[in-house]
Amino acid sequence: MRIVQVNTGNSYRIYIGSGVIERISEILKENDLSSRAVVITNEVVANLHGRYLMESLNKNGIWAEMLTVPDGESQKSLHMAAKLYGHLSRLKAERSTDVLALGGGVIGDLAGFVAATYMRGLPLVHIPTTLLAQVDSSIGGKVAVNHGSLKNMIGTFYQPRLVLTDISLLKSLADQEMKNGLAEVIKYGIIRDSELFQILENNLDKIRAYDQAILEEIVARCASIKAEIVQSDERDTGLRNILNFGHTTGHAIETVTRFKISHGQAIALGMIVAAEIAREMDLLSEGQVSRIISLTEKAGLATRISGLNRANILRAMKHDKKVTSGKIRFILPIAIGEVIINDQVDRRILKKALEVIS
Ligand code: NAD
Ligand code: MG
Repeated sequence: MRIVQVNTGNSYRIYIGSGVIERISEILKENDLSSRAVVITNEVVANLHGRYLMESLNKNGIWAEMLTVPDGESQKSLHMAAKLYGHLSRLKAERSTDVLALGGGVIGDLAGFVAATYMRGLPLVHIPTTLLAQVDSSIGGKVAVNHGSLKNMIGTFYQPRLVLTDISLLKSLADQEMKNGLAEVIKYGIIRDSELFQILENNLDKIRAYDQAILEEIVARCASIKAEIVQSDERDTGLRNILNFGHTTGHAIETVTRFKISHGQAIALGMIVAAEIAREMDLLSEGQVSRIISLTEKAGLATRISGLNRANILRAMKHDKKVTSGKIRFILPIAIGEVIINDQVDRRILKKALEVIS
C-alpha cells in the first residue's frame, strides 16, 4: 500500500493499493475519523462492492448506513442533493458523521457536494471506484452538481479528510470506462511524467488486463501529480490549468456531439490536436507526436473520427466558459512530460490540426 500526502489548506492522505477497503476501519481511526458513517453510492456500485465495504466497516465496530442513488450523470442534481439531505436528517446525521462517497466521479461530486453543505460540512471520505475517479476526481476538492444542461455549475471547493483508493475495485469496471480513465492517465504522462508515459508504452496490455501491481504504480503516479498540482493552486487560478491539456478541443467535441462521444475519447482527440499544433509551431518533434498517437491507439481510443464537424468544433471552442477575451487557451506539449500554456495559436494551424482527427 502507498500513501500520497496532499498538502492543501486541510491536508489529507490518499491510501492506494489492493485491499485498502479491508483495512478501512483501522485507517479511519488512524485519521481521527469517527465511528459513525453514511455511505453514499449508486445502484451499480452498491451491488458490486457495497456489501464488501459494509462488512468491512461493521466487523470493526463502525456503525454505517448506506444510501443508494440511481446510476448516471443526471443524478448529479440539486434535486438529488435535496433528497440526500432528507435521508441524512432521517438518519440523524451529526457534524461528526463521516460521509463515505463510494463510486465514480458522479458519486464523488454529488456526495462531496452534499457533505460540503449539510450542516455546513461533514467529514468527507472518497472511495473512488473508477480509474477516472482514482486518478482525477477524488483529488483536489472540487465538488459540484449540474444545473440543467450546464455541467458542474453549482459547487464549491471542499477537501476530503481522506481518500481510499482500492485498486481491486477496478476489476469489475467495463472496458469502456477503463479506456476513459486511461485517456486521463496518458494526459498525466504528457504534462508531467515521461517515465509514466514509458511505463504505459511498455505495459498497456497488462493494464487493460487489470494487472494489480502495474495499476497500483500508475494510479499512484497520477495521484501524486494531481496532488502536487492542486496543492500549489488549490483554487484553480494558475498551474491547475495544465490539467486541462486536451480538454480545450475535448470539451468542444463533447458539446458538438451532444456527449455521444465519451469524455475520455474526446480528450484523447483533444490531446492529439494539441500535439499537432505544437508540431506545426515547431515546439514538438514528429517522433514525439507519433508516440502520443500510438499510445492512444494502444489504449483502445480512436485517434480519428470521421464525420466530426470542424466548423462546429471551432465555434464551440470560442464559446467555452474558459475562453477569456476571445482567446482560446491551449496547453501545448513541448516534450513528453512538459507543457506550456499558449493563447496565441494561429487560426490556420488550429484548423489544420483539427483535420488530423476528423
Ligand atoms: P461515473 O461515476 O458515471 O462512472 C462510470 C460508470 O461506471 C457508471 O455507470 C458507474 O456506475 C460505473 N462504475 C463505477 N465504479 C464501478 C466499478 N468499480 N465497477 C463497475 N462499474 C463501476 O463516471 P466517471 O467517469 O467515474 O466520472 C465522471 C464524472 O466525474 C463527471 O460527472 C465529471 O464531471 C466528474 N469529474 C469531476 C472531477 C473533479 O475534480 N471533481 C474531475 C473529473 C471528472
Ligand atoms: Mg477530464
